[in-house]
Amino acid sequence: MASAKEAGSPTVDFVVSPELVTIADHARDLGLCPECFGRLVGRYGHGLTNPERAERIASGTELPAFAPIASCALCRGGFDRWETWVERIERTARGIEWATFSCGCRWDPEILAHEELIWSKVGTPFGESARSAFNRELGKKVEQKTGKQGGSGPSDVVFVADLTVGRVELTIRPIYLTGRYVKLDRTIPQTRWPCRACKGRGCTRCDGTGKMYPTSVEELIADPVLVATQGRGTRFHGMGREDIDARMLGEGRPFVLEVLAPRVRSIDLATVNAEIGRTAAGRVEVRALAVGVPGDVTRVKEARPSKSYRVVVAGEAAREKINEALKLAVDRAIAQRTPTRVAHRRSDRVRTRRIVTADLVAVDPGRFTLELRAEAGTYIKEWVEGDGGRTEPNLSQSLGLPLHVESLDVIAIHDEET
Ligand SMILES: [Zn+2]
Ligand SMILES: [Zn+2]
Repeated sequence: MASAKEAGSPTVDFVVSPELVTIADHARDLGLCPECFGRLVGRYGHGLTNPERAERIASGTELPAFAPIASCALCRGGFDRWETWVERIERTARGIEWATFSCGCRWDPEILAHEELIWSKVGTPFGESARSAFNRELGKKVEQKTGKQGGSGPSDVVFVADLTVGRVELTIRPIYLTGRYVKLDRTIPQTRWPCRACKGRGCTRCDGTGKMYPTSVEELIADPVLVATQGRGTRFHGMGREDIDARMLGEGRPFVLEVLAPRVRSIDLATVNAEIGRTAAGRVEVRALAVGVPGDVTRVKEARPSKSYRVVVAGEAAREKINEALKLAVDRAIAQRTPTRVAHRRSDRVRTRRIVTADLVAVDPGRFTLELRAEAGTYIKEWVEGDGGRTEPNLSQSLGLPLHVESLDVIAIHDEET
């Protein structure tokens, strides 16, 4: 097929071929507006709008005049209210911060079915759907009017023009904040924990709060973020979690905070972090707070880093004996049946984990302190205490005396070879 590069508009490539003339002839009496007529060959050539395509074809053939858009037999005026749509979009997005957007639209399904019927009737292989043409044109108009950047990739907001009811639906995409949290309080869970009795509605057992615990790492971080972003809510994604009564020390645990429907996207992280520190009052601290991307959620959820712990164990044993037991434990397969304490929410199975390093750091009357590094998913308490033989081998067994974990702290998450 010959192609003509036209002077003055080097990007236009559109030749009215005999095939196009035949298609146009089949469509001559359908009562289409220039947009809908041009869209019959909307995926043929490039550099022209659909009405321009219609004009090119019309200028070389003897077609009857196109229908006015308002009375078009196909779009029924759908392509005729750009100003109204742009106004609706601006009104919907008032008070919301956005720099990028994408457009969608909802049409009467009858119109879309009619369009496909017309394609087969006129025999065009080049038809472009009303929806994709509408989205593109609306995107251009919104770009022109607002100076914001449209596109089909990830965007701050999505506008869906519902042509059936003449309304714009707005979706505000989440923002993602990444960081590492340090938890210094042995009484708070990582995430908001709905009351077991009332499932969050509020009852006498939870004092009407709907929660098992007054606050959580999630809430202490999220609340100041929600104030700053005016978001609708948050989702907290931690790289694993520690027990409620365990502290999370060292450089902290990586997390992603997903902020749902934020009305403000550009926030001052230092100010927000200072506010987290102030309201958390020594219970939680956040390090390395930064703006993330959606992919951070998967990265954090799928990571299986080893971790280091400091464990204070109640039990009386000689230093040499403990050291000997630790030496034997390192790098040896430990079979752990699902612990009794979590058996109600996890399926009962046996898994194999390893202690990577084990050091005795203090021996005091009636207790000793260990520092352990273990593979992801190792149940440390159970390895020390034995969990009634459900973890084999275990430290209690090696020392030949009952042991009890008095306190446990996570001191490092080794997520980046640290
Ligand atoms: Zn039309
Ligand atoms: Zn309750």
